[in-house]
Amino acid sequence: MLVSAKEMLQKAKAGHYAVGQFNINNLEWTKAILAVAQELNSPVILGVSEGAGKYMTGFKTVAGMVKAMIEEMNITVPVALHLDHGTYDGCLKCVEAGFSSIMFDGSHYPIDENVAKTKELVKICADHGMSLEAEVGAIGGEEDGVIGTGECADPAECKMIADLGIDMLAAGIGNIHGKYPANWAGLSFDTLDAIQALTGDMPLVLHGGTGIPEDMIKKAISLGVAKINVNTECQLSFADATRKYIEAGKDLEGKGFDPRKLLLPGTEAIKETVREKMQLFGSVGKA
Ligand SMILES: [Zn+2]
Repeated sequence: MLVSAKEMLQKAKAGHYAVGQFNINNLEWTKAILAVAQELNSPVILGVSEGAGKYMTGFKTVAGMVKAMIEEMNITVPVALHLDHGTYDGCLKCVEAGFSSIMFDGSHYPIDENVAKTKELVKICADHGMSLEAEVGAIGGEEDGVIGTGECADPAECKMIADLGIDMLAAGIGNIHGKYPANWAGLSFDTLDAIQALTGDMPLVLHGGTGIPEDMIKKAISLGVAKINVNTECQLSFADATRKYIEAGKDLEGKGFDPRKLLLPGTEAIKETVREKMQLFGSVGKA
């Protein structure tokens, strides 16, 4: 059964660990992440971007697949199905499709508009028993042409949004989506500390978890981060393992071209990445 992310994140914040959000792209991704969450008895959040939702033919397909997989695989750990960086309209579509959690990314709006739209979604999520993530301070990334350092959120604006009744808050603290450039300045722990001081028990979300050094991840968790998003790292693991399989000519041996064989090394590689992350985040055994 799908659950809202609210309870698992409150527990994580109180217990000083973080729950991983792993983005899904297709059946193999979803199956791999669910299997590891069950194996390690860890709560898990499946993230779906609007682009990945479209790729899988729509949010209803995604919700149907995830719900059925939880049942067919006998998954008993808490699983949240979460829209990643949603537009306002995308959020409404996911409510209708049966997601259990959404992120509204209003960080590119002026703060008053971000507040107004977030407020409307707080009410909608409450009516549907769903959890809501909001964002303050845009998180950079290669796709935005931002290189070097990500933006740092204004702690007072974070407090304003946190007080609206959301369940988790994403705040820019110098983190970036995708691979980090060599000249990256690192996470701004002063910003994180200031946000945490003003927002209290609010579980904080760290986006762009790929390639942040382990000691920075641990420090971020100690300063109130209770959810960490991982996307690119699973893509890189999948691609590397698939490349090795092809380069070794395995697809040309026997029935090595069978998609169930061709996609297996990549799927196993995603599993290994998810295992490592759950161990690092401290969510193992916390289901
Ligand atoms: Zn993000």
